[in-house]
Amino acid sequence: MPDPYAYFRGEIIPLADAKIGVMTHAFNYGTAVFEGIRGNWNEEEETTFLFRVREHYARLEQSCRILNLPFNEDIDNLIDITIEIAAKSGYREDIYIRPLVYASSEVLGVRLHGLETDVVVFVAPFGPYLDIEQGARCHTSTWRRVDDMGIPPRAKVTGIYVNSALAKTEAQLNGFDEAIVLNTDGHVSEGSGENIFIIRDGVLLTPPPSDNVLEGITAQTVKILAANELGIETIERTIDRTELYIADEVFMTGTAAHVTPVVEVDRRSINGGVPGPITKQLVESYSNVIRGKNKNYEDWCLPVQVKSV
Ligand code: PMP
Repeated sequence: MPDPYAYFRGEIIPLADAKIGVMTHAFNYGTAVFEGIRGNWNEEEETTFLFRVREHYARLEQSCRILNLPFNEDIDNLIDITIEIAAKSGYREDIYIRPLVYASSEVLGVRLHGLETDVVVFVAPFGPYLDIEQGARCHTSTWRRVDDMGIPPRAKVTGIYVNSALAKTEAQLNGFDEAIVLNTDGHVSEGSGENIFIIRDGVLLTPPPSDNVLEGITAQTVKILAANELGIETIERTIDRTELYIADEVFMTGTAAHVTPVVEVDRRSINGGVPGPITKQLVESYSNVIRGKNKNYEDWCLPVQVKSV
């Protein structure tokens, strides 16, 4: 049986033993930043490919900089630790790796200065997040995306995810798969945990970072694949809600969601309610790349030989 491991207080230990105290600052105030990294199992090669690990740790460091939290770890060292945890835990299936830098001081008082931070990295098995085959049915949320002037969404802060959780739960309790969240200006920002793209007249359109989106690594990957593999350009520009309704195709991107077609928005079907042709090509291309099957992009994939357990 696979057994998950974690990096905790400078050591690799069984995940079950990685525990924090109830007074931990991050637990009380949401003062932590995090990442989600996919490990994609390739059955033929019996290898897990970690996708764009360095880019995720670079964004983790940026999130710390935005909050002014100390980032005391060396990224190369964190990458080695990530490989070791993935190998040692023994999962022969898709996994998700969660690094966090959290305010570990056990003190009361809301602030970001004068706090100690710790790094934790853990692993969990993690299959598909949304239905990539059928596509997702979405609605526009009644919640608005947090603003750069409130809690900056460019930083992946744990506390921000209350905003995402409100939107996701509202969507699911109303019978949809995922929320599309507008920003305070009323423009499309993103999903609860995904960036969003629409296709109009053969061009990909996606909101710019200044529309309060997380600068997604999957989104950046998809822009490159669209250009290189399909010869399709991406334009970053503000998108209105009603443009979703008339788009030829809509899809979402994220480490968890991969490339997920959106087949319905606010009860209007997109492309007749089935995944569109360009989206399907991007789903296919992305899926091959993340499993190390396209050698042109092997620099993005870090192979891990999983230990037999
Ligand atoms: N937006 C939000 C709010 C997210 O949580 C995520 C997932 N990290 C994304 C977009 C997609 O980012 P990435 O492709 O880097 O996973």
